[in-house]
Amino acid sequence: MSKPRYLPTDVAELYGVPHWSSGFFRVSERGEVQVIPEPGLSASLAQIVEELVQAGESLPVILRFPQVLATRVRQLNEAFRTAITEYGYQGGYQGVFPVKVNQRRVVLETIASAGFPFATGLEAGSKAELALCLAQDLHPDALLCCNGFKDDGFVRLALYGRQLGKNVVITLEKFSELERVLRIADQLGVRPVLGLRFKLHARGSGQWEDSGGDGAKFGLNAAEMLGVVERLKQLDLLDALAMIHCHIGSQITDIRKIKVAVREATQVYASLAAAGVPLRYLNVGGGLGVDYDGSKTTFYASMNYSISEYAADVVYTISEVCKKADVPEPIIVSESGRALTAYHAVLAIPVVDIAGPTLFQPLIREAAPDQHQIVTDLEQLHDELNLRNYREVYNDAVADKETLHNLFDLGYLSLYDRARGEALYGAILQKLAKLIQGLPYVPDELEDLEKVLADKYICNFSVFQSIPDTWAIQTLFPIMPLSRLQQWPTRQGILVDITCDSDGKIDKFIDLRDVRNTLPLHEYDGRPYYLGIFLTGAYQDVLGSAHNLFGRVNEAHIEVLPGGHRVNLFVRGQKARKLIENMGYEEKMLKASLRAQASSALKREKLAEHQVAELLETYMDELLGYTYLE
Ligand SMILES: *Cc1c(COP(=O)(O)O)cnc(C)c1O
Repeated sequence: MSKPRYLPTDVAELYGVPHWSSGFFRVSERGEVQVIPEPGLSASLAQIVEELVQAGESLPVILRFPQVLATRVRQLNEAFRTAITEYGYQGGYQGVFPVKVNQRRVVLETIASAGFPFATGLEAGSKAELALCLAQDLHPDALLCCNGFKDDGFVRLALYGRQLGKNVVITLEKFSELERVLRIADQLGVRPVLGLRFKLHARGSGQWEDSGGDGAKFGLNAAEMLGVVERLKQLDLLDALAMIHCHIGSQITDIRKIKVAVREATQVYASLAAAGVPLRYLNVGGGLGVDYDGSKTTFYASMNYSISEYAADVVYTISEVCKKADVPEPIIVSESGRALTAYHAVLAIPVVDIAGPTLFQPLIREAAPDQHQIVTDLEQLHDELNLRNYREVYNDAVADKETLHNLFDLGYLSLYDRARGEALYGAILQKLAKLIQGLPYVPDELEDLEKVLADKYICNFSVFQSIPDTWAIQTLFPIMPLSRLQQWPTRQGILVDITCDSDGKIDKFIDLRDVRNTLPLHEYDGRPYYLGIFLTGAYQDVLGSAHNLFGRVNEAHIEVLPGGHRVNLFVRGQKARKLIENMGYEEKMLKASLRAQASSALKREKLAEHQVAELLETYMDELLGYTYLE
């Protein structure tokens, strides 16, 4: 019988590529995963990784595609332009990039330059972020929004930014910030431009639902807002108030929540505008989602709208409220971070080994002379198992395995019997898995079988460093092999990382209808096998931690050209020394200690003279080396 032939479209569908890729990735006719940073340009991810490996670079590596970022910036602006034209909206649109989502230089500089024609600005939430925003080359109209809690230094820096000619807006996050800003503005002789974050009663949807609503951490309520307006009126500074700001949380899964929040924010804007406050900007915050699983639903890893629908709904809602209230339509500002950056980065990780349930055939064949009855029972279950009795046999086997362990704990079972009993149980599950493969319906109690039998693919990376949200908030990133897609994957696996933490694993995967417990993978045979973790460009770069002292990973900044690609920059990941030093050690001290121990070992004749030099050399090599397996 000839093997069925699988088309690249089948493979793409298996991993959901057409659904989550937003057009930036596809499986080509030749069965290669490609990046398409802009229409007409494509490059094979496997080829990029293989070239890096051939050039002697180590994995894991982040592949960054600045062109993808630039395309996202254009898409967002074009979506708003289209909506503005469609609804005859009188205000404009100016995005700001909230830099906390990814402060990497290449990210910021790419967004700044791609966004220049659209007067895209930046949003800083801390002094350090403001410091790097101030150094960027932005369009003169581009906004620089200062959010977050502020001290005098933060405010001073922001006000100096205005002196430099930057369009800095200081967002008041709480009532007491007003006096601080007024005092320092007075000292410096600078006219401040203020935004006001309003605590909407509307809430988001998904995992960040609590960022909005009355209990929100940031923002002023209606009374405080009126207080600010009164105070500014007193000082004849009402025209300093330029922006109303709101933010109901990240990854809003449901478009209706966005409409409700924008409506409320616009009512606030319209009330103040009607009362004579010359507001210019309405900032609707972040929250524009990313469809990680491609299901287009309100599931937390998804969203039930597109960028165009987002822009259309925001513009329409604001326009409608303003028309009714007969107030000028403001410049719309959005702070979309996740949606701009998620797509530009792919983490490439190599599989280094596999740990599956090993079947020790000799154990299964040979019973101990005085075998315990419970093991004999398992043996019988194994022999009897068929399509008519599989549910019964499965339940009996589960019960027997539990008895097996209890007997062992109480000292009634030999280690050999325990090993044989477990091996037989494993063999029953495998036989069962094969039996039920073709069944149209699998009983609930057997659904976990796939998970139990899944191979553990050991991958050279750290979940905590590279995709911390997988661990912290159960984010589901699309994952698929970059290699061997010409063959149909025949195994089911979960991924484990190389940290010593049992949480360092991935055992939940995207699915259009549900969440999968295993990922279809190819049989690992020791040859290079690379996996790609996609949509990791938002938040992961900065939230990552050095658990087990696995440091920042290598990264390649790649430009896709007609007919090829070029690595514009290769940034080496952190060396072990750097991580050790971060913990308060010094290289000198470490070396001195090793040298002293080595010479003492030499004296005690535990080490030969030439070994001392070798040992110290090995030690230094590792201190200066990559923290991952090489
Ligand atoms: C984090 C944050 C954002 C970014 O939100 P995304 O959902 O990533 O677009 C925007 N505005 C504020 C105030 C934030 O704190």
